[in-house]
Amino acid sequence: MRHVRGVSALLGALALGNLAAGADEPAATLMRRALGPTPILEDLRQLTDTIGGRPTGSAALERAVDWGVMKLREAGLEHVHAEAYAAPRTWLAGAVSAAVVSPRAAWATPGSDRLRVAAMPFSASTPPEGLEADVVDLGAGDPQAFAAAGAKVAGRLVLFHTAPMHGIEDLFKEYMETPGRLARAREARAAGVLWMSTRPGRLLYRHNATLDGSLYPLPGAVVEREGALRLARLAADGETVRLRRLLDSRSGADTPARNVVAEVRGRERPDEVVILGAHLDSWDLGRGALDNGCNAALVIDAGRQAAALAREGVRPRRTLRFVLYTGEEAGLWGSFAEVRRHRAELDQVKAQVVFDVGSGKTTGFSLGGRTDLQPAVEAALAPAADRGPFTQTTDAFMGTDNYDYLVEGVPTLVANQEGLPYLPDYHAESDTFDKVDQEQLKANTAIAAAVTWGLADLPAWPAPRQTRAEVEALVRSTGLVEQMKLFGLWEPFVTGARGRAP
Ligand SMILES: [Zn+2]
Repeated sequence: MRHVRGVSALLGALALGNLAAGADEPAATLMRRALGPTPILEDLRQLTDTIGGRPTGSAALERAVDWGVMKLREAGLEHVHAEAYAAPRTWLAGAVSAAVVSPRAAWATPGSDRLRVAAMPFSASTPPEGLEADVVDLGAGDPQAFAAAGAKVAGRLVLFHTAPMHGIEDLFKEYMETPGRLARAREARAAGVLWMSTRPGRLLYRHNATLDGSLYPLPGAVVEREGALRLARLAADGETVRLRRLLDSRSGADTPARNVVAEVRGRERPDEVVILGAHLDSWDLGRGALDNGCNAALVIDAGRQAAALAREGVRPRRTLRFVLYTGEEAGLWGSFAEVRRHRAELDQVKAQVVFDVGSGKTTGFSLGGRTDLQPAVEAALAPAADRGPFTQTTDAFMGTDNYDYLVEGVPTLVANQEGLPYLPDYHAESDTFDKVDQEQLKANTAIAAAVTWGLADLPAWPAPRQTRAEVEALVRSTGLVEQMKLFGLWEPFVTGARGRAP
């Protein structure tokens, strides 16, 4: 099963389509082994059931990092270590509750007098004794709704309605409308924010108040959908709706955190690197199985298979680096720390591949605006053709660990995955081991192993790191600039604090 180097080098002079033939054999071996019996599901079970939810700054994440180092060592990888950094801003939830004070009679059934609520990450706490205020229904929370409510907002808890989440577009919509709604609530001097859950069945989830690490000055909470709708109906009926809320959280600055890094060194150009990464941290209501424990397990298992091949004497041209990022949910801090730490070597980081949509079927990769990557990615996917079809998209978005690589000019691939299973349990209490599609997780692992190996083994690299000017053109042409502005990441890019230095 040896990789025939001479033949592969010869093929290097030919079209990319032919290059796949040279890479076929090791990639096919990796895929077959990843699809066969491996410890990936036991790894995931340990991470989710034994360690559990693991926000950055928590003891659980520290255990997960130690566990990741141990797993990658056991899997036979090289240069396994943790890279420490300071996460600029973190947030941990404490006690949270909401009791309906009025209309008392409508909510007085013993044992059901409390609304189910979950604190919005990066929102402020209430005073220790709690906060009691009337609720004002702001509906869509747009400027017209605020204009209509006028002075009624000041000192009250604003309730924002949401549509039930059916697809990934709905999740994006929820993120996109958050900054405007919260800014308007603050300007109108609201006492706090109630965000209607997009998921039925009284399901709660973490929905960030900010994405740039800044602290939102009002207490915010996601409220069970059924209870929020009922409060809205009571208010519409002329009832005074009044809540007593307690929300206690802890925000941290420069919180010590660690990424986990391991390698399989390349045979020809070991200084050139292709990264396969996924975030290890998670929110804490659930156990972080779909987001993103299963893909942390994918990275470990893909590394395990590549390390086994290396021990058998088969290595790709370039180094494969496997990274378990942390700080992702709190602000993409781990990937940001990696690019800063390795800034001087980023010309050598040829591509970064990221998985972050649970165990949804991989349908291709989002190339972050880099059309120049497409032929190489398609060639690298050739050995996985029976798991396809794969369609590459050239969109660029922010929302996972590729962001800081992209704005540094490094080519990034984010797996495009089907939204099920993932979306109903996204950041929710229900994100547990049992939700993971085990067979598809193994298939995704095989695809990840094949594509990263194929890229790392390319004779000539087709998509060089972009200059600052090229990155600027890319973020504008893809519309990424709008997301950067909305989520507070444009300013750090303009100043060079985040992104390729001007
Ligand atoms: Zn995630």
